[in-house]
Amino acid sequence: MVFTVAIVGRPNVGKSTFFNRLLEQRKAIVDDVSGVTRDRQYGVTEWIGKSFNVIDTGGFVANTSDIFETEIRKQVKIAIEEANAIIFMVDVTTGITDLDQSVADLLRRSTKPVFLCVNKVDNSERMLEATEFYSLGFEKIFFVSSISGSGTGEILDAVAELITPEASEDALEKNDLPKFAIIGQPNVGKSSLLNALVGQERTIVSDIAGTTRDTIHTHYNMFQKEFILIDTAGIRRKTKVNEDLEFYSVIRAIRAMDEADVCLLLLDASSGITAQDLNIFSLAVKKGKGIVVLVNKWDLIEKETNSARDYEKRLKEKLAPFTDVPIIFISVKEKTRIMKAMEVALEVYENKTQKVQTSKLNDIMLKAVEAYHAPVVRGNAVTIKYVTQLPTHVPSFAFFTNYPDDIRAPYKNYLENQLRQNFKFTGVPIRIFFRKK
Ligand code: GDP
Ligand code: GDP
Repeated sequence: MVFTVAIVGRPNVGKSTFFNRLLEQRKAIVDDVSGVTRDRQYGVTEWIGKSFNVIDTGGFVANTSDIFETEIRKQVKIAIEEANAIIFMVDVTTGITDLDQSVADLLRRSTKPVFLCVNKVDNSERMLEATEFYSLGFEKIFFVSSISGSGTGEILDAVAELITPEASEDALEKNDLPKFAIIGQPNVGKSSLLNALVGQERTIVSDIAGTTRDTIHTHYNMFQKEFILIDTAGIRRKTKVNEDLEFYSVIRAIRAMDEADVCLLLLDASSGITAQDLNIFSLAVKKGKGIVVLVNKWDLIEKETNSARDYEKRLKEKLAPFTDVPIIFISVKEKTRIMKAMEVALEVYENKTQKVQTSKLNDIMLKAVEAYHAPVVRGNAVTIKYVTQLPTHVPSFAFFTNYPDDIRAPYKNYLENQLRQNFKFTGVPIRIFFRKK
């Protein structure tokens, strides 16, 4: 299970500044929901060789402090339930406020590790003022300036100390059956799909314990198809905290995604793809997960000639630049194309786990290089002499060249397209590296 840290605190203490610093400083993968500043941000970062998820619980645009308080308490409760550790952020320039006290009370009652992070400690004068926060009673207290980055290393060290090598390596999970996670917004039909697949048929279904308390792994074995379904949808129903479904679904989706080989991103045909779906999609791409997009509730759409084709075209425009993704139109209600969806998910798994033969890879890719050479940079003719697939979980290719730093994005895209055209990587993010030969 991937270790997850949530950043909580009232608005304006600097949570998102801190989040951005953490992630950008570490060259991490950030999904910044730009524009809507109050949206949540989540990403995965690495520090001294340990990887973990970071979630900025964001804030709310609300006019009264009452709404703030209720909403923030809700977020803190969810963070306590879902995260492995909490960074509680406060602001030295305002001192301890009532809202800080209220959040502190909630956090003191939890058993999760809490890192009190006093932000905006930009100078030594503020360092003195910051000592007031010791009175909140947290053992682990850090003084940071998110704007300059000072102090962030210490807090990352402390977080990293809690992360076991297993949690950091989660992605390399041992079980060799394909693992699929059904993810998507509330109400798109995740539970319905799961029920349609595994239903009540106990004879063919056996539950095996998931790696975490909040995902259930169900072994599916029917019609000569065998895989593990990672279910988070059903559990959401059972929990008491269900006020903030959207936040909930995001955390759950990330969790399920981390455990999966292939993500089945479910959309509601009648509402299309949302900004949040796109964030989840790009996070899956960055995490190197296989992806299949399932457009559910296709029964609700008035069909004209080409409507699936047009729909697919519009969807791909939104998914760009990663468009080599299967899109399947299903109706869980009418049970149409569900098996097709599972077949495609299995294909994507095959694509993701294939190892291309080195000789074949070189035959084809060196021809592609011959057909279109990398542009000359600073008078240097860039040559590529050899290609190999690396032994990684995300299909990765190393191209050996005389000038690795002189190959630009367009050429890299060309090589990726050639790989996609000549080998089957549909639904699979691939990585390309240039190495000095
Ligand atoms: P959030 O609502 O908690 O996410 O807070 P933001 O990250 O949006 O920050 C609120 C304001 O505090 C912004 O104007 C930031 O530039 C400012 N801020 C954030 N961190 C620091 C810091 O370390 N020092 C100072 N002086 N200002 C900061
Ligand atoms: P979840 O929140 O993603 O788990 O969504 P549910 O499985 O609970 O489904 C939400 C609603 O959509 C329910 O009322 C379902 O009956 C309905 N639904 C699910 N799949 C379909 C479908 O293919 N067509 C139609 N018309 N409704 C569906």
